[in-house]
Amino acid sequence: MSPSSTRFPISGAAIAVFVGLVGGLVILALAASDSPFADRFGGPRIDRSGRLSIHLNGVSQRMSRDIFLPTKGWVMQLQFIDLSIPQDLEGLVVILRSERTGATIEIQDRFLLQAGNGAHHEITIQDQPIQLASLTVPRNLGLAAGLLSVRVIFTDASGNIFEDSRRIRIRSPLGLPPISVRQVIHFDFEIDHDDDGLPDFWKDLELFGLASAEHPELARVIANQIESRALLRVEAAYTAEHDPNRTGQARDPVRVRFRATEDPSALTTRICIGGSDPTKNHLVGHVRLDPQNEDKTSQECAREPAAGLFPAELETYRDSALYRETFGPLLAGSGGQAVGQHPDDSVASLSNLQDRDRGSEGLSRRQVKILRAITIFGDALGSIMAHEAGHALGLVPEGRPSVGLFGGETGGDYAHNIDALGESQPTAWLMNAGEDLNFEQLAGLGKAGPLQFRPLNYAYLRDRVIVTDKR
Ligand SMILES: [Zn+2]
Repeated sequence: MSPSSTRFPISGAAIAVFVGLVGGLVILALAASDSPFADRFGGPRIDRSGRLSIHLNGVSQRMSRDIFLPTKGWVMQLQFIDLSIPQDLEGLVVILRSERTGATIEIQDRFLLQAGNGAHHEITIQDQPIQLASLTVPRNLGLAAGLLSVRVIFTDASGNIFEDSRRIRIRSPLGLPPISVRQVIHFDFEIDHDDDGLPDFWKDLELFGLASAEHPELARVIANQIESRALLRVEAAYTAEHDPNRTGQARDPVRVRFRATEDPSALTTRICIGGSDPTKNHLVGHVRLDPQNEDKTSQECAREPAAGLFPAELETYRDSALYRETFGPLLAGSGGQAVGQHPDDSVASLSNLQDRDRGSEGLSRRQVKILRAITIFGDALGSIMAHEAGHALGLVPEGRPSVGLFGGETGGDYAHNIDALGESQPTAWLMNAGEDLNFEQLAGLGKAGPLQFRPLNYAYLRDRVIVTDKR
């Protein structure tokens, strides 16, 4: 396995907002039929210009031609461009037809909106808002392996007809899911490479004014809060709630757990967090790509070759406005005072700040500043942890589907998201190359909010897309 390097210098990448909804599914008819769709839906007025289009796991037709989907369930989305769609998607018909058996399934998906969310699935791509509706095609639809024709027809209120069709490759799963259902990722913040008896991470915090050498007791208090915050960010990125495919599935076959402590009973990949990049390349993270999560107990802690996360390298972002605003009040060089240098700082005053924050009344100005730095640092570090854990779980397989998932094969693109043309992604996704993500985005304060997996990445994590190992 070759190493995957993640560098995170600053750059301004375009961002997409991905807010979504899911529909309900109604199967109207299940019939064996050989009659071509055109007999029933043909006609000269049908608009096939792409205003209605089929996507798989969020990936457009041009990109997803070679994707293999498992019989046990997958996600299809419909994208509507400049179409007036009723909330209940009346007028929409989806027809699936097995090319092998000729069996046809007609679906009128009513895309019932989830409670509390009042709009259609809306995303922007390069600042162009589009409407998207998701459909989870479940296992119990009885889809056999083989080629499946999908035709989607939407008739708007004025009687205009829009259509898209494509063929989808369905395969039986190749054995077990790529990621073990018992997989644990252990983020080890206690690593002490320099043997001074204290976690290297505490020393990292001094670079950001979040600790000072004379007050290890305060470093511990701050480190604990950053660790919790970062772990929450990781868990959020991997939860179904943040599934960009919006499947609405309560259960998925694959669920990875994340821990800041050891779990001897499970298959555990250990990723150490602390120190600066021993290779002097200023990488924030350096975790090997593990295709299909083959090594479920890998150790990402070594110095030679260097592996792990190196929080000290977050200093790379020191020119960012958010960085200066956040850490300036804690850095002597900017006229600030580091944690432990201010008379009010104590274990009592700095413990559990998040829990005690009740707006302007709950905390002192000093406490608010420190809490802000904990939050921003924790969220940015958490995004990088989620990204590096993605590498350890096999993201992003290099090459095109079905062998890869549009992961780059060389340089900074290696094991990171690219598109069908080999270009970087305009949308700020979690598994984009590190140099394409800036500090604001890592902290979840970019236009897209907290970084998410690209839908195709997420489908892999949940075993809803088949990656073959044949090259
Ligand atoms: Zn990376």
